[in-house]
Amino acid sequence: MQWPTHEVSNQAPDLHDYNLYTTDLALVAGVQREQAGWHEQDLIRYGAELGMRQTLQLGQLANHHLPELHTHDRVGHRIDTVEFHPSWHQLLAMQRRENLHAMPWSQARTGVHVARTATYYLQAQVESGSLCPTTMTFAAIPLLQQEPALFAALEAKLFAREHDPRDLPWAQKHSMLIGMGMTEKQGGSDVRSNTTVARAVHGSGRGAEYALTGHKWFFSAPMCDAHLVLARTEIGLSCFFVPRWRPDGSRNAVLIQRLKDKLGNRSNSSSEVEFQDACGVMVGEEGRGIPTIIEMANHTRLDCVIGSAGLMRNALVQAIHHARHRNAFGHPLAEQPLMRNVLSDLALESEAATLLMLRLARAADASRDTPDDLLERAWRRILTPAAKFWICKRTLEFSGECMEVWGGNGYIENAPMARMYREAPVNSIWEGSGNVMCLDVLRAIERETEGFALLLQDLHDTAGTHAGLRALVATLRSDLALPPPQQEMQARRFAQRLVLAAQASLMLQHAPASVAEAFIASRIDAECGRVFGTLPAAALQHDMLARAWPA
Ligand SMILES: Cc1cc2nc3c(=O)[nH]c(=O)nc-3n(C[C@H](O)[C@H](O)[C@H](O)COP(=O)(O)OP(=O)(O)OC[C@H]3O[C@@H](n4cnc5c(N)ncnc54)[C@H](O)[C@@H]3O)c2cc1C
Repeated sequence: MQWPTHEVSNQAPDLHDYNLYTTDLALVAGVQREQAGWHEQDLIRYGAELGMRQTLQLGQLANHHLPELHTHDRVGHRIDTVEFHPSWHQLLAMQRRENLHAMPWSQARTGVHVARTATYYLQAQVESGSLCPTTMTFAAIPLLQQEPALFAALEAKLFAREHDPRDLPWAQKHSMLIGMGMTEKQGGSDVRSNTTVARAVHGSGRGAEYALTGHKWFFSAPMCDAHLVLARTEIGLSCFFVPRWRPDGSRNAVLIQRLKDKLGNRSNSSSEVEFQDACGVMVGEEGRGIPTIIEMANHTRLDCVIGSAGLMRNALVQAIHHARHRNAFGHPLAEQPLMRNVLSDLALESEAATLLMLRLARAADASRDTPDDLLERAWRRILTPAAKFWICKRTLEFSGECMEVWGGNGYIENAPMARMYREAPVNSIWEGSGNVMCLDVLRAIERETEGFALLLQDLHDTAGTHAGLRALVATLRSDLALPPPQQEMQARRFAQRLVLAAQASLMLQHAPASVAEAFIASRIDAECGRVFGTLPAAALQHDMLARAWPA
């Protein structure tokens, strides 16, 4: 039957069955440049798999069918179990198979952080919530490697490439996931306020067994086989390996009070828990819990950068795809001059985020290959928190703008933009919120003075003839002469400028000249406004969109 009122026209088709890797020219070039070319065939294969309709559906399903908490069984025993839709486990199984949870730790190879970063960035374009337990496991492994006896027992399970969703003692499983528990009701940034206590049970100090009593206000992925938890002994805050099951085969007393009802990241269960004499083994030195667990932070923060850069890339591709198929006023949106300005501006932001992410991954590789390289250490230690602040925050505005490219359709839940928009803020909040990151940048500069001087010189040298960029680099130097209270007050300004200088430098080195010039004209030479789509006319090049999304 023909129903003329139900004719569908001028709607963009769903985007699927494309290769997320080969269509991303900045990524492809970056993988080669940063010495991960050996991983390219895997990226091509996985990029195609991730772009398939059925893979993309997994992301939708995992966020539609939310995790469900069961605190008790039918007859009243505590079980503290979270039930997930099968799509959640399929996503975790894919990440595990691609070694996203352990790649740099299980294979010592030049460019291995870059290889993992590129893979993680592709994965983030499909679903974000399931990245949480993968990232936490990834960040926990180097810390656990410093505990030889414990690690010897865990190694095979941590490095295994299959996902094992069964709720059993880790020793009976094929593989395991690790989470982390620091944040309490009274403080997340200031973990020194933690009140959970740990009482020695057998011996004391590193490797000894303790009983933990207290609570955690945010405790994501409680079905992980163990969490690294901060708790206080008489000596001070210490770090503990707290398994879901006790060594005697009984359930550990990690009681899940409820799951958070979250804005986004909904596929992932984030819980509130209480410990009642929960069994934990001390990891690291007694009283050195914060430095021990903070070691994980550089890894989780880089993953926040990668995850947000991936979110940006996905939002950009969806926006350009839509604008190429949707007509308004007689022409495709993508050919309308003002829409071209918006999309090109977004493309610049996304490419700059991708380049910075890859550069930080190279610095992570250098921590093993050339540990004494002060410049690389400065990229790692100073620019990682700065990028975590800037890229995660830019993703908020970025995803909103991409949603608007879709018009009203962007606001509707059965399209991809709404989920991306709701996903965007969390990377900016957890693992050190914006202000905390900017203050960390200042702290890192204080510790890495020589490395920072090398970094500034590097940025100055690559600025070439760009007077605006050179002036910006000079202000970075002079800002540090401010007295400490003013420095702290200006920490966001400083971090913003530092990241923009770094991104401009990377664009000048690795992007086509016209693209780099457009970035500098709009970000550094103060011609851009406060919103996307304000590129100066001279900076707007016809081929920018073809480069951003050649499909
Ligand atoms: C979905 C989700 C999942 C999470 N999962 C986990 C988890 O698994 N494990 C875990 O341990 N935590 C988890 N967290 C907690 C998260 O890490 C914290 O929320 C975060 O660290 C901020 O702590 P807070 O919420 O206590 O905020 P606060 O510490 O109260 O901070 C509030 C604001 O004040 C700012 N601020 C703090 N100190 C300063 C200062 N000196 N100067 C200026 N500004 C400052 C912060 O930047 C922030 O914007 C999760 C959070 C979310 C949203």
